This record gives sequence, C-alpha cells and structure tokens, in this order.
Amino acid sequence: MSRAFNFSPGPAALPESVLEQARDELLDFRGTGLSVMEMSHRSKEFLEIAEQAETDFRELLSIPANYRVLFMQGGASLQFSMVPLNLLRDKPSADYLNTGSWSRAAIKEARRLCEVNVVASSEDSNFSHIPALESWKRSSDAAYLHITGNETIGGVEFHDYPDTGDTPLVADMSSTLLSRPLDIKKFGVIYAGAQKNLGPAGLTMVVVRDDLIGHALARTPRLLDYQVYADGDSMSNTPPTFAWYLSGLVFKWIKAQGGLDGMAELNARKAGKLYAAINDSNFFTCPVAEENRSWMNVPFTLADESMDARFLELAKERGLVNLKGHRSVGGMRASIYNAVPEAAVDALVEFLADFEAQQY
Ligand SMILES: *Cc1c(COP(=O)(O)O)cnc(C)c1O
Repeated sequence: MSRAFNFSPGPAALPESVLEQARDELLDFRGTGLSVMEMSHRSKEFLEIAEQAETDFRELLSIPANYRVLFMQGGASLQFSMVPLNLLRDKPSADYLNTGSWSRAAIKEARRLCEVNVVASSEDSNFSHIPALESWKRSSDAAYLHITGNETIGGVEFHDYPDTGDTPLVADMSSTLLSRPLDIKKFGVIYAGAQKNLGPAGLTMVVVRDDLIGHALARTPRLLDYQVYADGDSMSNTPPTFAWYLSGLVFKWIKAQGGLDGMAELNARKAGKLYAAINDSNFFTCPVAEENRSWMNVPFTLADESMDARFLELAKERGLVNLKGHRSVGGMRASIYNAVPEAAVDALVEFLADFEAQQY
C-alpha cells in the first residue's frame, strides 16, 4: 500500500492514524460486535461517542458555556439558508462581506430570504484580498454580519477577526476551523462542513450563542431551526453517526498534536515554507495579497499556463495529487489542512524547485 500526498480542497486528507484506528474498529467497535455504522444513534455506545466528540471539540476551541454545539447535516451550503431563517427575526436585512466564491454563494441564498447589504467586495480584484475594515459600509438595521473566514477557492483568509459590537458576527469557517485558536466570544454563529479540516463529508458543525436560538421565522421547516437541534441534542432525526464518530477521532488526534496552539504552529510553518518557495520563484506566482494569504489553501499559477497539464502529470508521478486549481483562479491550488503532513509540503516545495529548474 502506498499513500499519496493529498492536496485536495475537500473532501480532504485525514490523519493516517485516525484512518488506521477506524479500520481497526470497523467490524467490531470495542467489543460490541458491531460497526459504529450499524449502531442505533440512541445506543449507550453511540451516545458516549457523541458526547466525547462534543467535549473534545468544546475543549479544543475553549467554547464558553453560553454557546451550543450542534452536529448537523446539509453542509455549509445549508447554513447559507439556515442563518437568515434563524437570525433575521424582525429585521429586513443582513450585512455580508464579499471576499470570494463562497461569500457569493452565501449572499445568493440569503437574497431569497432578505435584503442583503454587501458591506464591501473584492470582486474587482478577482478576490485577491480582504477589503480593509474601515471601508466596510455596514447598515444600522442589519440582523447580523456574515463573513467567510477562509475562502477555500481564492485562498484568502482572515488572520484577525473584527469586533462587530451588538451585531452578531456569523462566519463560514468550513476550511479553517480547528487550524488555530479562535476567540469564540467574537461570534454569534460559526459553521463548518466537516470534509475540509474536521473529518469526512456528511457532518456540519454549528456553534451558536444561546440568545440566537429559538427565534426562527414562523415558516421555517422544523429541521432548519437551530432550536430543534439544541433541544434534541442534535438527534431529533438520525444524525450522520459515522462522520460524527470519525470527526471525534480527529478531535482526539488534534489534542494529541498539542491542541490548536500546536496546530497553529505547524500550519504556520507549512504555509510559510510553501509561500516562501513561491515568492522566491521566477516561475510560480500567488495572486493573493501577502497579508491575506491563507494557511489552508494556497493558489498559485505557472508563468506559462500551457505547462499546467505537464506540471500535474509530473506531480502525480511523485505522489503529489489533487493540485489542480479551481477554474475561477486557474493554475494550481495546494490545500494544506491540518492532516496534510509537513513532509507533503516539503515534497511539494522540492518538486516546485525541480520543475522550475527544468524550464531554464
Ligand atoms: C466547501 C465549502 C462550502 C460548501 O460546503 P458543502 O459542505 O459542500 O455545503 C462552503 N463554504 C466554504 C468556505 C467551503 O470551503
């Protein structure tokens, strides 16, 4: 067996030791004679798995007691609808910052439900930076302010989150949650699909402040109401049990790496090496403003785009896979989430140098 260095944007790499543990427990989970996939979500065994995962997740992020952690489905994309349904209350509008493809997708869904005020946009520069906080034109009657913590496609990330006062800050953290410490108190709601940095596809994590629960619009379908998940311990219908279990193993793995401080140190080092290699090169370019460059998704282009296919082919020969960039940016993108080992980044940096050397 040989494992590739996987730079996929999502579903993405998982820690090898987690996959090994899941393999070992797959047919007989700790003497039950059952796979986790075959258990009732109401069984004692699964409830233990579920509670432990929440405990570890809360501990990793130091989540204050007045926030609920909800284990949901539907991906981050469903949150694009759930956020307005639950947070609008009697307000006619919400503020959104537009920093890329995922912001735009969130805005599009919100427009079905309310007026959207785009406080600032970097679309003019093909989403290569985050507009300066001073330039945001917030409206006084917005129900909340929505941002995308890390634009997975454009590779643009917040390294410092704004203080929004009484207006709840809502953040799509799909591709950055658990990559570093986060001050939860700054946010009203954060959400993330698991398949980037937390676990397998199928699970969506939502962290929501108590006072924002229980105010869904009257027409809200039952399973789109945060209150239903809060009241039913995220089990008001069958939850994605295996994804919940596997994410729980990932949370344990992160704790063993030194928690979020440990992850931040590792992620900063990995990203630093890759950006340094791109900066030092005369052949590769990263389109993102230095101060907004993502630690998780690193887009870069080749000086000669006719070489893209050759680049991907040679990379694959070295076991470096899923480097093709998104069509809206072009070129390449290396997603270097928590579970992508430093050795993968080292191998990529070496490949970049070798590839460039062959061009001259
Ligand atoms: C992947 C991604 C999404 C979409 O997630 P789904 O789980 O497919 O709905 C939304 N926002 C961001 C930032 C993403 O990276």
